[in-house]
Amino acid sequence: MSQDIPFDKSFDLPPGRVEEVMPGVRRLLVNNPGPFTFKGTLTYIVGRDRVAIIDPGPIDEAHIAALLAAVGAETVTHILVTHTHRDHSPAAARIKAATGAETCGEGPHRAARALHVGEAPRPEASADRDFRPDVTLADGDIVSGPGWRLEAVTTPGHTANHMAFALKDTAVLFSGDHVMAWSTPVVAPPDGAMSDYMASLEKLSRRAETLYFPGHGGVVRDAPRFVQQYIRHRQAREASILERLAAGEADIPALVGSIYIGLDPRLTRAAGLSVLAHLEDLTARGLVVTQGAPAIDGRYRVA
Ligand SMILES: [Zn+2]
Repeated sequence: MSQDIPFDKSFDLPPGRVEEVMPGVRRLLVNNPGPFTFKGTLTYIVGRDRVAIIDPGPIDEAHIAALLAAVGAETVTHILVTHTHRDHSPAAARIKAATGAETCGEGPHRAARALHVGEAPRPEASADRDFRPDVTLADGDIVSGPGWRLEAVTTPGHTANHMAFALKDTAVLFSGDHVMAWSTPVVAPPDGAMSDYMASLEKLSRRAETLYFPGHGGVVRDAPRFVQQYIRHRQAREASILERLAAGEADIPALVGSIYIGLDPRLTRAAGLSVLAHLEDLTARGLVVTQGAPAIDGRYRVA
């Protein structure tokens, strides 16, 4: 895969260990490693004594127990969710039941667009459709406690309801799955949308935060520059798609085969969906044409 982004895959926190990544921010790893989760999902605890939890994680009994032990006698006032994928939000209900904290997020899971006629929802069932935030956050809303203020930053693209959280008066932004140091995220229609994703990257690149704490893997340093590299990576992928199509009409498997060299076979389907996300965007911009709505089994050519 593309070597243009300086990915950092160093990360060695064992599951269940509470680590203070900076004064007032602790993190805890879920034992759910995989091709999409890297070493596992990270849950963050912000503040001391009266704290917020960001991304409580999946229903994983060991993780829920470790998270409740980590906060101990402290009061959890808020549970914030970056997005409703099953590795991030389902434990919110359990942590709320145990602590009485309010759940906060952009909204319930929703697709970035309506399903096309004949199109099935994604079979991986990666969405957590049960999450309903007690408090619905809009862009710029602030959630606060003693010594900390978190600003909601809408960042749709990976999912329609994705939110990052800026820790005010610091250089830190909790970036969820939108920007990570180890990999780019999957942007898979209909949950995800490439045009939204690119606009969200542009939005973050204009912000001042320089240190990102993502939902998976280690911290992102020099973040605005890293985000620029993410943008260029997607632009390069788009250029590869257009270049391949300029050589002749193609379907998505052919595009994946020519663009992703040395792809982990477990990621073939995700790569196909990422290419579909680009093709939706390119079709909307009038650069590529296909029969009917852009579909996973469609054939594509340059306009
Ligand atoms: Zn996700």
